[in-house]
Amino acid sequence: MSQKRIAIFGSTGSIGTQALEVIAANKDKFSAEVLTAQNNDELLVQQALKFNPYIVVIGDEKKYPKVKQALARTDIQVFAGEKALEEVAEMDAYDLMLAAIVGYAGLKPTLQALESGKPVALANKETLVVAGDIVMKKALEKRVPVIPVDSEHSAIFQCLVGETRNKIEKVILTASGGPFRGKKPNFLVNVKRDHALQHPNWTMGAKITIDSATLMNKGLEMIEAKWLFNLKPDQIQVVIHPQSIIHSMVQFEDGSIKSQMGLPNMKLPIQYALGFPHRIPNDMPRLNFRSMSTLTFEEPDIKTFKNLGLAIDALTKGGNLPCILNAANEIAVYAFLRNRIGFLDMTEVVEQTMVKIPFIESPTLDEYLDTDGEARSFAASLIQM
Ligand code: NDP
Ligand code: MG
Repeated sequence: MSQKRIAIFGSTGSIGTQALEVIAANKDKFSAEVLTAQNNDELLVQQALKFNPYIVVIGDEKKYPKVKQALARTDIQVFAGEKALEEVAEMDAYDLMLAAIVGYAGLKPTLQALESGKPVALANKETLVVAGDIVMKKALEKRVPVIPVDSEHSAIFQCLVGETRNKIEKVILTASGGPFRGKKPNFLVNVKRDHALQHPNWTMGAKITIDSATLMNKGLEMIEAKWLFNLKPDQIQVVIHPQSIIHSMVQFEDGSIKSQMGLPNMKLPIQYALGFPHRIPNDMPRLNFRSMSTLTFEEPDIKTFKNLGLAIDALTKGGNLPCILNAANEIAVYAFLRNRIGFLDMTEVVEQTMVKIPFIESPTLDEYLDTDGEARSFAASLIQM
């Protein structure tokens, strides 16, 4: 296998840094050719000096001189600003994009990669929540794969290997339940940022950690699954599985169920996506069934964790509603992380924005972009940001 040139969009994040560890451990298979960050110039420079990519991009243009100066003795090209992300995604400097930017900001560069005929390993689920139909249509038109990195979707993707002729009856997305599993609104109303940032099984970026605590993450993942695997809303079920050993399951037409299991470790789905279709040997810890006592399952508590219900509503109605949900949620999580609103207020912001912004049944890309803008301003006005 010749070396695959990887572009990591969002290299300074939780997914990005773990992907670089995978690349460092498999130098014969991969090289990091594009690295991007939004604010964290210091880590970006450190990564660039270690991996010697062809290009780095710093989102915050004010930081351009600092990054340029720090890399002056190298051949690494430095770009800055939001537009540069799209321009670099268009260049023939890489073979596969790892889309690991968080939030709506990942949409345009990912679309550009597909437009340029590049396969995408997708961590950035918001891209599919906002405009999944357009993204998947583009991938189909350009005949390039979108390989999931999200652990549940990687599990489903792995279960589907060798099953192209067989129909899926349903997929079962597992959820850990987050740090507040079993808690009720009278507890949640007082939850503060630092408590919500403590996830029992996974260490992740701040936004997805809060989404996991509210169960919005699972709702976004249902929408992500719809687009990745071409499913109807009622083919997607969520089950709480606190141990996070079964990463998700597929039930086929004959009632047979396949699952993918392992210790919770994002490096596994990351390396599967980078190496696909090949599995790559590693020395990461193994699951030992003899020392594991129980695997348990329960129904999600949608009455308490209303964000999951709102996401199911958006999934079912479709159109621009998932885009509205996502934009309002990004604003709400941002405000919660800055202690501007409470834990349960996040649901209020999302719900009110979903009611307010006009529904569009089959939006164009521009209509999605406008919807995002309108939903953000309305959500922000609710919080007086
Ligand atoms: P992080 O917050 O840790 O990292 C986000 C990355 O995106 C950073 O490199 C950050 O740069 C960059 N970034 C942030 N805002 C912007 C912006 N406006 N424009 C361009 N770049 C930006 O997030 P995670 O790594 O946790 O998550 C990344 C994506 O992967 C998310 O969509 C998440 O849902 C998904 N995912 C994550 C999992 C995990 O285990 N972490 C699991 C499954 C999915 P900087 O560091 O400079 O701010
Ligand atoms: Mg996940």
